[in-house]
Amino acid sequence: PRDTVDVVIVGSGGAGFSAAVAAHDSGAKVILIEKEPVIGGNAKLAAGGMNAAWTDQQKAKNITDSPDTMYKDTMKGGQDINDPALVKILSSHSKDSVDWMTKMGADLTDVGMMGGASVNRSHRPTGGAGVGAHVVQVLYDNAVKRNIDLRMNTRGIEVLKDDNGSVKGILVKGMYKGYYWVKADAVILATGGFAKNNERVAKLDPSLKGFISTNQPGAVGDGLDVAENAGGALKDMQYIQAHPTLSVKGGVMITEAVRGNGAILVNREGKRFVNEITTRDKASAAILEQTGKTAYLIFDDSVRKSLSKINQYVGLGVAPSADSLVKLGKMEGIDGKALTETVARYNSLVTSGKDTDFERADLPRALNEGNYYAIEITPGVHHTMGGVMIDTKAEVMDAKKQVIPGLYGAGEVTGGVHGANRLGGNAISDIITFGRLAGEEAAKYAKKN
Ligand code: ADP
Repeated sequence: PRDTVDVVIVGSGGAGFSAAVAAHDSGAKVILIEKEPVIGGNAKLAAGGMNAAWTDQQKAKNITDSPDTMYKDTMKGGQDINDPALVKILSSHSKDSVDWMTKMGADLTDVGMMGGASVNRSHRPTGGAGVGAHVVQVLYDNAVKRNIDLRMNTRGIEVLKDDNGSVKGILVKGMYKGYYWVKADAVILATGGFAKNNERVAKLDPSLKGFISTNQPGAVGDGLDVAENAGGALKDMQYIQAHPTLSVKGGVMITEAVRGNGAILVNREGKRFVNEITTRDKASAAILEQTGKTAYLIFDDSVRKSLSKINQYVGLGVAPSADSLVKLGKMEGIDGKALTETVARYNSLVTSGKDTDFERADLPRALNEGNYYAIEITPGVHHTMGGVMIDTKAEVMDAKKQVIPGLYGAGEVTGGVHGANRLGGNAISDIITFGRLAGEEAAKYAKKN
């Protein structure tokens, strides 16, 4: 029958599509289901890059790297609580994953720097932007080329098992068809994270209550419930990546170094309201009290010159600029007259060496050189590190570390790869590598059963 396959993949982000293509190419008949009306999940929104070590692309740019360096950077970034075996796979397969994507038509020739990396290893399309959208498009095109059965508006509800506890398929709910079973020997959960579900987020980390999220609407974590109901164990759930300054446009995480190097924070009324370099939780709370729950990072060309990362933000279109603060205010809906006064006042404080307004300890530079920039920001939840526990074959494990036969997990729905903190550029790397691995392993398993 039509709804009997070897492998069902749940979720159409980078992990799900990678799994679907890999399982198909390993000889499996597959169905990919997606609960939302659009494909791509959060993967589609990723702006950074795809981390990979010792690639041809790096060599072409004379960048020396090694899987071991990527391993060490990732463990350090994750505060060493990552699952070392999974990080080994992430780093040692990364070059192969870039090659796999390239063979399928991706352009990952640009190699840039991301936080926590000791060398440039963040691969992305020429020009630097939109790695996620590009990767998802390439995977989608390849899925279509293979005639993969892709069912939108179809939610994975419950993994079905036989008396021995082996996966036998999944109960799904289609928007028009209603509930039905898809019979399969293996199910791959690639349902992403839950950053968009503030209730769930705040329960795990109360300091994040009220935060917006950069995530797509589907990132609410129902896939985690599916995994748990099937017996899968969750780990590291309390590690949720949040940040006081996410760009409202594009949801790009704006590094603290922008403030560290001299940017100020102002509200829509053009006024400063907080010590810009206070702790993350205090800065976040102060921003949430402003009109529209957003604020603006304001800086000039001297700050931009001091921090190459800013070129990336300008390139991504999240840091509009003008040659005067009044013009900038007009463009961005900030009171330009007040903004001009605020910057003049701030510059006088820099000259005096003491911030008597907000007790900012470090006043690196006055803002009076060249163009002015404004990045509209708001605190946000970006990524959830925790998730379902998997082994090195992407098999889902229960609390006793016993494999649930036929159940696989890949991507943000899993925990362990990123430890307590995910490095920028490691999400795309994770979803391609583990998505592909899950697809191959699930196909292999299905063939045996
Ligand atoms: P990853 O980066 O790990 O691939 P994404 O967030 O990009 O994760 O993609 C996950 C996708 O899974 C999203 O498109 C989301 O809407 C979808 N999804 C989440 N839960 C379910 C579910 N229960 N059934 C079907 N699709 C789901």
